[in-house]
Amino acid sequence: MVAQIIDGKLFSKKLRKQVSEHVNVLKTENNITPGLAVVLVGEDPASQVYVRSKGKQTIEVGMNSYEYKLSEDTTEADLLELINRLNVNNDVHGILVQLPLPGHINADVVINSIDPEKDVDGFHISNVGLLATGQKSMVPCTPLGCLLMLKNFHGSLTGMDAVIIGRSNIVGKPMAQLLLNESCTVTITHSRTKQLEEAVRCADIVVAAVGRAEMVKASWIKPGATLIDVGINRVKASDGSTRLVGDAEFSSCSEVAGAITPVPGGVGPMTIACLLANTLVACCRKYGLEDPDIIPN
Ligand code: NAD
Repeated sequence: MVAQIIDGKLFSKKLRKQVSEHVNVLKTENNITPGLAVVLVGEDPASQVYVRSKGKQTIEVGMNSYEYKLSEDTTEADLLELINRLNVNNDVHGILVQLPLPGHINADVVINSIDPEKDVDGFHISNVGLLATGQKSMVPCTPLGCLLMLKNFHGSLTGMDAVIIGRSNIVGKPMAQLLLNESCTVTITHSRTKQLEEAVRCADIVVAAVGRAEMVKASWIKPGATLIDVGINRVKASDGSTRLVGDAEFSSCSEVAGAITPVPGGVGPMTIACLLANTLVACCRKYGLEDPDIIPN
């Protein structure tokens, strides 16, 4: 079997186009321009790349982008004060604090200080609770991107067996909630799971969110299963160059799986597209407008 490639690059392009069309309507018919504020503390090189890319794509879909780059030694109090200002700023509809934060800042306190209605990352405790109880919330961008790709590929996910590898608050746990809400039977596995391979082998859907290069092997995958690879791992080749790989061994897994997301070009581009979609949704909700229908087909 040769797996179908689920092309996140193409899919995210369609999603961004839809967001951009909605933004246009908001501007022309309602005189509203959605605004996204991104806060970066410190000099982490990967975070700088992500923030730049977020800012660029925010502007490309016609939204306002506000970037706040704070020094590594910014105090928690100063960061909280900035978030309070953004919470009451009517031009800002979405707030994202780039993680990880420096060690002296409590990330939970910071995330929970964001107005839940502007929490476009969906990490605020209120949004986590709303998602867990199947209520309208802001949904974390990476799992949302995975879900959109899965639904686009399969249609209904009802009754499917899903195994998630990884239990982080950012990916694994919200992914499990989303799939549960879609009536999948969900198993969450993690670093202490005893029979990981056996569990994965039962799955119709595998979501790998571990952060270990090419850990998932072809022999773990049930023939025909759908494999969503969230991992982003930088590995060094023998010639000294680096390349990005996922948590699954792409070439061998794609001979067994029915469908697979590549790395790069799979989940990654969907994450930013979903951030823009969430900002649009937050903006519409603020003005009492209906949530835009932004699932591309
Ligand atoms: P994390 O470190 O917070 O969590 C990793 C999880 O993997 C943990 O729950 C841990 O229990 C589990 N784990 C570790 N070793 C394991 C093992 N041997 N067997 C089974 N489970 C194991 O990481 P995260 O933030 O959830 O990110 C996971 C990966 O996804 C990383 O590579 C990260 O870079 C990537 N990521 C990608 C995007 C994107 O947009 N594509 C977004 C977020 C994260």
